[in-house]
Amino acid sequence: NAAPLGSSVIPIVNKLQDIFAQLGSQSSIALPQVAVVGSQSSGKSSVLEALVGRDFLPRGNDICTRRPLVLQLVQTKSRSNGGSDDEWGEFLHLPPDTRIYDFSEIRREIEAETNRLAGENKGVADKQIRLKISSPNVLDITLVDLPGITKVPVGDQPTDIEARIRTMILSYIKSATCLILAVTPANTDLANSDALQIASIVDPDGHRTIGVITKLDIMDRGTDARKLLLGNVVPLRLGYVGVVNRCQEDILLNRTVKEALVAEEKFFRSRPAYHGLTDRLGIPQLAKKLNQILVQHIKVLLPDLKSRISNALVATAKEHQSYGEITESRAGQGALLLNFLSKYCEAYSSLLDGKSEEMSTS
Ligand code: GDP
Ligand code: MG
Repeated sequence: NAAPLGSSVIPIVNKLQDIFAQLGSQSSIALPQVAVVGSQSSGKSSVLEALVGRDFLPRGNDICTRRPLVLQLVQTKSRSNGGSDDEWGEFLHLPPDTRIYDFSEIRREIEAETNRLAGENKGVADKQIRLKISSPNVLDITLVDLPGITKVPVGDQPTDIEARIRTMILSYIKSATCLILAVTPANTDLANSDALQIASIVDPDGHRTIGVITKLDIMDRGTDARKLLLGNVVPLRLGYVGVVNRCQEDILLNRTVKEALVAEEKFFRSRPAYHGLTDRLGIPQLAKKLNQILVQHIKVLLPDLKSRISNALVATAKEHQSYGEITESRAGQGALLLNFLSKYCEAYSSLLDGKSEEMSTS
């Protein structure tokens, strides 16, 4: 039961990481970061949670995300692969090796750590919270949950709160390797979308922006999001995905991510307006879209990987040749062994020379 995000990419990434390991290469495949942007309470944290498949982010109809949360997902070996099926979180601000296995405790720690720096009264702070989640059901990727755009200062917020939050968001999404999930609730006007507006500043051609329309379940009666999803209102190169996340009541009743996914599917099936749009509906489709983009990204990395492998192959073949021909005769084998030994001695003495030089200069 892999999390929606990564279910199709994990096997590819695993294979490639195995190849890297065999090459003795320290490098691995750097996947792009994924960040969510949008106005406050548009459903950003809900979308991220659904993608990860676990409940652990503070969500609510008020300002909840008040510091950037950098969520590093790390894939561990599953039990069937000689590891364990445990999933846990570790915070950078806690003592190292403090593993939290209870995901509601992870949420409480995010809330407590938010308060520590941003105060109890709705303050927002730039300093990120870093959380590492280890699980066999995720792929190695970094997700960033960001505070939403607000216009009117409340609580302890400064008068320039909007400008501050915008600057903070831009500092994350300006990187060319950051995929942007631009979240807009279906019950607001897409032409007014803070998410699309801020994404277009850093990604005017829309190469790395996916539109996410949330709250399809609470649109004005008699309206639907068909036109939005088809890109007829605001066109977007990578298109839109419409989702239904849990409402506040679901959160209070502790409905799980899994139950929410079932309810979402049922919702789309019951609305004729959404028939024929299945490739643009639901969290699993959003995950699929992200996976496709990640596969595309990996494909771009492949030529470099290939040339590194063939370089390593050429170098190894050369080294092999320098030891001389493998022969069947005893004499030939003796000569080969001598050759090995003298090469070893050379290497060893040059190592010693290097050391003594270093000592004399120090
Ligand atoms: P954020 O501020 O953008 O991170 O938004 P949250 O994820 O915290 O969600 C804000 C509120 O909207 C919460 O009460 C959620 O339960 C609710 N919400 C989010 N998505 C949906 C949705 O698709 N449908 C409904 N009915 N409520 C949603
Ligand atoms: Mg949030």
